[in-house]
Amino acid sequence: MNLREIYSSKFAISFEVFPEENTQNLYNTLQILSKYSPALVSLTYGAGGNNKDFSFDIIKYLKQELNVNVMPHFTCICNSKEMIERNIKSIEQLGIENILALRGDIPEDNSICHFDFKYANELVKYIKLGTNLSVAVAGYPEGHIESTDLKSDIYNLKRKIEAGGEVIYTQLFFNNDKFYNFVDQVKNEGISVPVIPGIMPIISKKQIDKMTKLAKIEVPKIVLEALDKYNSDDLKKFGIDFASDQCLNLINNGVKGLHFYTLNKYYSTSRIIDNIL
Ligand code: FAD
Repeated sequence: MNLREIYSSKFAISFEVFPEENTQNLYNTLQILSKYSPALVSLTYGAGGNNKDFSFDIIKYLKQELNVNVMPHFTCICNSKEMIERNIKSIEQLGIENILALRGDIPEDNSICHFDFKYANELVKYIKLGTNLSVAVAGYPEGHIESTDLKSDIYNLKRKIEAGGEVIYTQLFFNNDKFYNFVDQVKNEGISVPVIPGIMPIISKKQIDKMTKLAKIEVPKIVLEALDKYNSDDLKKFGIDFASDQCLNLINNGVKGLHFYTLNKYYSTSRIIDNIL
């Protein structure tokens, strides 16, 4: 099922996972989460342009053995046009219908980089012109880390939609008002594709420190206090309650789906879904 079909029918749950060496853990996680009938599972692509090929074995396994509608992510920064073409073709040959097209983070040492594609909108255009893939793009409710203001970031987001982006998956956030403000501004810019909120269960302090270093994400006071006062188990419980409230509020405000950043762990994500559905 492609992205248009998924979001034009019923409310859709999706999961994000990453390729890991311990593939059995990843497969077990997805086997457990499959009881929630995810509309799709997205698989990240190596950050910083380090990973020069898709995780084809994992994509194949998810599709063929676990019967998952898998949406690989793909970044264009530092990849040559030739390499991009080869990989996109292979993806289509596997019978994959959807792809999340990204620029990727600029690595600190970019001297080895190709810059055939500078921004994600160029990759979206390239994929749409040469394939039948349905293309999703990334959006940032609090603005992308390199952008000076949300307005110009949304203007750039519009370039991705005009190039053929069909769905926006957002960066994680903890303050739903940031998401609602983003959606309003996106609509005001004339963008009408579904905006699917990205939800990451709070699992540890280390995880939150890492995320907030990499991206513009406001951490509410209640979360900061929880990070200080709870031990590991209690923090996980807090994270489940916090994300459950967040998701219920989003559902009550009419989102078309929820995209869970699972971190390849099933426990918190499954508890949250049990709480909300
Ligand atoms: P772009 O849309 O190209 O935007 C990058 C920056 O450039 C923004 O500040 C934007 O405002 C600006 N910009 C865009 N177009 C123009 C233009 N034409 N002129 C001037 N400025 C412009 N990273 C990975 O490495 N692997 C993954 O699997 C991965 N998955 C992700 C999934 C989601 C849902 C999200 C939200 C992010 C993901 N990322 C991933 C992170 C992403 O690669 C980084 O945030 C990256 O820095 C930006 O990628 P982008 O596609 O949003 O870039």
